[in-house]
Amino acid sequence: MEKKEGALNLFKLAAVISLTAVSFAFCACTKEQNAPVSNQQGKPQILTSSYVPYTLVKNLVKDMADVSMLMPPGVEPHSFEPLPKDILKIQKAKTFFYIDKTLEPWASEINNNNSLALGKDLATQEDLHIWMDFDKATLMALLASKTIQREYPTLKQEVNKNFAKLAIDINNLKKSYSSKLANCKSRDIYHIGHLAFGAIAKNYNLNFKPLVNSSEAQEPSPKDILEMIKQIKGKNIKYIFTEEALPPQMADLIASQTGTQILMLYTIEHITKEEFDKQISYQDFMYKNLENLTKGLECN
Ligand SMILES: [Zn+2]
Repeated sequence: MEKKEGALNLFKLAAVISLTAVSFAFCACTKEQNAPVSNQQGKPQILTSSYVPYTLVKNLVKDMADVSMLMPPGVEPHSFEPLPKDILKIQKAKTFFYIDKTLEPWASEINNNNSLALGKDLATQEDLHIWMDFDKATLMALLASKTIQREYPTLKQEVNKNFAKLAIDINNLKKSYSSKLANCKSRDIYHIGHLAFGAIAKNYNLNFKPLVNSSEAQEPSPKDILEMIKQIKGKNIKYIFTEEALPPQMADLIASQTGTQILMLYTIEHITKEEFDKQISYQDFMYKNLENLTKGLECN
């Protein structure tokens, strides 16, 4: 009898999935917001591609420079395509920082002598989300710091000081991750999202199990979904993870099928308008991720 009910549940689930497959776009469908534009006079203008370089650069220059972001909050970063006005902005920018050509190929294709990939040569084939590795995030910030100091000599001293502070912050994050993720009941991160946290898993000996591999825009197959449900049930997992760029239906469905609770992991490459307005920093997002990982993996 139990077996029959189990089979029925899976059948019902498959039906739900096939019904929702068309309407469920595994992408961030937030309406585009206008890119932040500054009208402050007299400050150096630094253009960044997206929130990762934006937050690192903001850490360095604080309010001494006017930092703007090409990709508006709410946009799915992996499928971003610049508009002609964006291309013009990059070509006019004295300084344009982006992540790297593998993650933001559009940025590397635009001809501008002042464009710089902060994550140049740092991405690996397995994971392009290099800022999730603390040493690599520090290297990105170091390259930004050196470039800003060279291009804007009046900021040299302050930027140098701010970089030193950021490097200490990131090193403290690294130590916190090491100690807090050392003893956990589970080491499996079941993630209803994409492959954005592979570096954390690798560095802290966790098993990262994303529902889709490459980008948020990719859709999971019913087979992948059913396999994940089977594994979660088999391992008696209490928490699953998701990311805020995605509509909540899939995580809700898997949570209800497995009796688990949902926790958020922040990719930082995708941010909401509200988070942008609050200027939540790289460090804050990474501490939030640690807090949720510690809870979800039941670490002590
Ligand atoms: Zn991503």
